[in-house]
Amino acid sequence: MVRASQVSKSFGSIEVLRSIDLEVAKGEVACIIGPSGSGKSTFLRCINHLEQINAGRLWVDGVLMGYRQRGDKLYEMKPKDIAAQRRQIGMVFQRFNLFPHKTALENVMEAPTQVGGLSRREATAKAEELLDRVGLAERMKMYPSQLSGGQQQRVAIARALAMEPKLMLFDEPTSALDPELVGDVLDTMKELAQSGMTMIVVTHEMGFAREVGDSLVFMDDGYIVESGHPREVLGNPQHARTQAFLSKVL
Ligand code: ATP
Ligand code: MG
Repeated sequence: MVRASQVSKSFGSIEVLRSIDLEVAKGEVACIIGPSGSGKSTFLRCINHLEQINAGRLWVDGVLMGYRQRGDKLYEMKPKDIAAQRRQIGMVFQRFNLFPHKTALENVMEAPTQVGGLSRREATAKAEELLDRVGLAERMKMYPSQLSGGQQQRVAIARALAMEPKLMLFDEPTSALDPELVGDVLDTMKELAQSGMTMIVVTHEMGFAREVGDSLVFMDDGYIVESGHPREVLGNPQHARTQAFLSKVL
């Protein structure tokens, strides 16, 4: 579903991603861990083309992201086509970024009505179903300020799902939450994984990575240092840098 081949990204002279290779099969959950500044967020942002890569290729569901290939040549896509590609990918951030003046229901309805072409009735039905799925059936009419951080994050997940993405990217979705609110969000993500969604999750929740992840990737300084089954990477890390990082977080 996702394939990165020799993806590199620099900001000015700073190399942030160095020849990243990664494959995530359809329906799999890949978790990414690594120290601050190692390039995790940048990598996610490159996958849905919020950042342009400097070298390499990215495919989502077999389609090259951001470019069209004719023969050996690559041509940059038009913004309209990039936007269409991006709609197939849902993203959830550390900060929930909900519209503060809209209710939970209206937040989830926004994209389907504005860009998805659904009628208000269709979008309402869909948003209600999604909010029910993330455990917020009772709170649809509330505004973000009336919801806990964990509830807001679940609204954000429902909102990302409203465009029926093929792939969901999560960038530290629970790290801004009070500890007692983390579990509900992780449970929602686990259910989503069990429903067959392909997911890439930057997280330091090792329990989630172990239980839900099909693979675990350790990034450091723009490199994928090590990847494998979560049990292996966590239980028997091969590289000194992975060992050092895990000894701090486990
Ligand atoms: P964290 O765990 O703190 O979220 P991260 O692994 O997600 O870290 P990134 O946010 O991807 O790291 O950042 C990787 C590097 O790229 C950092 O050195 C950061 O300063 C740099 N960087 C990220 N975005 C930009 C930008 N827009 N312009 C310049 N440098 C950037
Ligand atoms: Mg980050």
